[in-house]
Amino acid sequence: MFTNKDNSDSNSKFVQTVLGKINPSDVGPTTTHEHILIDFVCMFNPPSEASERFKAFQPVTMENLGWVRYDHFRNQDNLLLADENVAVEELLLFKGHGGRSIIDATTIGIGRDPYALSRIARLTGINIIMGAGYYVDSVHPHNMDKKNINDIADEITNEIKIGVGDTGIKCGIIGEIGCSWPLTKNEHKVLEASAIAQSQTGASILIHPGRNEKSPFEIIKILSEAGADLSRVVMGHIERTIQDHDTLLELAKLGTYLEYDLFGWESSYYPLSHLDMVSDGARIDFIQFLINNGYSERIVTGQDVFCKSRLAKYGGHGYHHIMENMIPRMREKNISEPDIHNLIIKNPTEILTIKTN
Ligand SMILES: [Zn+2]
Repeated sequence: MFTNKDNSDSNSKFVQTVLGKINPSDVGPTTTHEHILIDFVCMFNPPSEASERFKAFQPVTMENLGWVRYDHFRNQDNLLLADENVAVEELLLFKGHGGRSIIDATTIGIGRDPYALSRIARLTGINIIMGAGYYVDSVHPHNMDKKNINDIADEITNEIKIGVGDTGIKCGIIGEIGCSWPLTKNEHKVLEASAIAQSQTGASILIHPGRNEKSPFEIIKILSEAGADLSRVVMGHIERTIQDHDTLLELAKLGTYLEYDLFGWESSYYPLSHLDMVSDGARIDFIQFLINNGYSERIVTGQDVFCKSRLAKYGGHGYHHIMENMIPRMREKNISEPDIHNLIIKNPTEILTIKTN
């Protein structure tokens, strides 16, 4: 089977998709944090009561959808996105609404699937950029304690320069790199290794911070001390991590991209944190606040689709929610066209552009 075909041979600036290099000018409207296929059953947290457990192990249906949506993590079937045909249908909705590129942030431990991603990319014509490296400690491989920082850095570099395993299919970004709160020893190693791999490849780093407002600051300190280029680091899940304006500005000053990547997830209950999950309206208000403070060129957006109940097929908002609903809503809330262009096209393109000499 054909794997990697490079469309632009000796380009010094390129974006690396699962089907090979493309020109940065072909990136277009992008969502920077999604999971096209994912095995997220590691997050399954079934209730203890018998009748609730019955629902926890049922397939997702119209009958249980309301129960599932209140807490995505209490139904096992909900946490597995494994059907390529469904993925194609969902990505075609994104394409139909003008989307062109998507970062699949599924890293080691949650079912990253290079061959399937390349099949889906061919069938849809969407540019899929695959992530390198490791998700959170709880899904690290058993031999993680034995790996040192340089071993891990070489693994990440190889996933970008040579390909994942023996597939020949290359990653185009480092991450999402999983960090828990408190950060574990092995997660600390992966962060330092990511900084080294960044200097070896020129790729950006996408971070999944721990669920605590101190986590992004701790991560940035570690990355910075390990020599990372913070202007090419994307701090994900900002809306569920920092909701205080002063703290947000303190973080913005450190120079990473800030990713509002949970658009569409609106719930009265967020089971994993002391913070509430915010609404889409609040997300746009946070973005407006950052733009007003001069950070238009530092913000990106996504939906972080990771479960069935967030797909259009199962009554969710899908991968096209930002394109279909949020861009018009941003306009209504007086975010300017140049700022929307930065969020949706310019900033993602810069994040994904790998420069070689
Ligand atoms: Zn994440």
